[in-house]
Amino acid sequence: MGIRSKLIAFAVGIAVLVAVVFDGYVVKTLGAELGQHTEADLAVRAALVTESVARARDLASEATALAATLSERAGARVTLIDPAGVVRGDSSVAPERLGELEPHAARDEVADARHHGVGRSERVSRTTQMRMLYAAQRLDRPDGPWIVRLAFEPVAIDRSLSAAHARVVQGTWLALALAVSAALVGARALSGRLVYLTGVAREMRGDLSRRARVQGRDEIAALGGALDDLAESLERSRRELGGEGERFGAVLESMREGVLVTDERGDISLVNPALSQLLGIRGDAVGRPPIEVLRSASLHELLEEVALARAAATREIEIAPAAPGAAGPPGRRILVVNAAPLALPAQSRGAAGVVAVFFDVTELRRIEGLQRNFIANASHELRTPVASIRASSETLLGGALDDPDAARDFTEVIERNAARLHRLVNDLLDLSRIEGRERPLSQGSLDLAAQAEAAVALLRGRAREKGTEVEVDVAPGTLVTADPRALDQILTNLVDNAIQHTPDGSRVVVRARGANGRVLLEIEDDGHGIPAAHQARVFERFYRVDQGRARASGGTGLGLSIAKHLVEAMRGDISVTTGAAGGALFRVTLPGATAGAPR
Ligand code: ADP
Repeated sequence: MGIRSKLIAFAVGIAVLVAVVFDGYVVKTLGAELGQHTEADLAVRAALVTESVARARDLASEATALAATLSERAGARVTLIDPAGVVRGDSSVAPERLGELEPHAARDEVADARHHGVGRSERVSRTTQMRMLYAAQRLDRPDGPWIVRLAFEPVAIDRSLSAAHARVVQGTWLALALAVSAALVGARALSGRLVYLTGVAREMRGDLSRRARVQGRDEIAALGGALDDLAESLERSRRELGGEGERFGAVLESMREGVLVTDERGDISLVNPALSQLLGIRGDAVGRPPIEVLRSASLHELLEEVALARAAATREIEIAPAAPGAAGPPGRRILVVNAAPLALPAQSRGAAGVVAVFFDVTELRRIEGLQRNFIANASHELRTPVASIRASSETLLGGALDDPDAARDFTEVIERNAARLHRLVNDLLDLSRIEGRERPLSQGSLDLAAQAEAAVALLRGRAREKGTEVEVDVAPGTLVTADPRALDQILTNLVDNAIQHTPDGSRVVVRARGANGRVLLEIEDDGHGIPAAHQARVFERFYRVDQGRARASGGTGLGLSIAKHLVEAMRGDISVTTGAAGGALFRVTLPGATAGAPR
């Protein structure tokens, strides 16, 4: 039932109720009042009529005529009753029929009047058979107490009452009409604003910035105000939540660690870009089960375990290299996964969602491996000369000292190995200083021709011993930006290698040319060169192409490694290839310099 119908029903109800109460109350009081009034009036008229009757000389004979005339004047039926209770005159009864009337002495009003002087009653007349109001008065005459009685038919009262009732009914209809129109107008005013508010509330669902802004101070205006307040606070919460969500999203986006979240069903609910990249996940993983998306059985196992046990766990997993053409990083990856149950208050029982964070430790593990290798290699390198020294000294002490030739040989072995140890230790120290950036490089503009010439000059003696010819073909004035000691060490290591690892009578050339702000330095020999498979690895520490031969030549296996570190520290580049003559061709690029640049 709409507001309009309710209001109309209410108004009609009120109007009808008022009409019924009014009708009952008014008609009743009016009836009573009219009755009292008529009674009093009848009593007065009875008194007046009695006075007229009292003036009659011979009442018994005049009674009939008196009754008729007085009835006309008093506007009521007049009955005259003699002391014996016999009706002597009655305006409503023909004189000849008076004799038929029974004696009236027993009538209530007559009996009352006889005893108390006046009497009254209201009853149906046995004579006229109509409802009548009676007022009687005693008139004391010499022949006894006569009774003058007036009777009045109260039709006028009834008529008045029904007229009043009819008015009330009419008034009720009018009131009904007015009430219905008032209800209609009221309902329109009320429901119009409510319909408006309902519309606004519906619009707010799509657009929280919508406001009702209802004018006024009534309840509907208050409702509108409350609705506006609600929308306002919802909008604020949504803004705050949105901000939180954006921040959360930005954090996930920019994290370098991979993040994976599963829901309580075990399906993926979140994957951040770092993880997609790391695991080579293509397309949208959200909503899919992890087994479909992840390329690792042990990762899947870990997620299930954490979800069921509801306890955090860490595992190191390996991800196989992505297939050619597939997404994901090439090569095997080692990942440390920290998985923890996602403690949502709603999930108190059963499997929990899981949040897993992935750290790519491939590089870390590689470096750890290198370190382990390095220590093993270094110990191995040191062990050989130390063992030789010990063996020789033991032999000497065991008696060889007495044989001057043998003593000399063994002492030479000791000296050679001590020198080797010395070189090794020096190289290792150099390497650790360079790697630890302990020796700061002072970069400045250097003349490459002069530097190369100086480095080669110190090696010419050794070269000559092997019949090797070293040529420096660098245009004077070729300037590089470098540290003089570092550049000297690079040149020495490369030229020394070229002399050392080539057959006797070889030829070594040091060349340089500048282009695009860089200087390309080349050291080429015509020896047996470095096989392509080893070219990338000769820069590793202790790496030798031919372990036995190289070690016998007295090298430490660290020279190229030191050279590479130094070149890179000076923002240069080093590589090796096979030259046109089939020998090794080392290429070093260094930043160029212009004349006058600060040293
Ligand atoms: P080493 O002290 O043994 O020379 P390096 O690090 O300087 O150590 O060199 C590493 C390895 O590279 C050498 O053992 C050698 O096998 C190879 N090598 C370096 N330079 C040359 C070259 N000019 N010709 C052939 N092989 C070379």
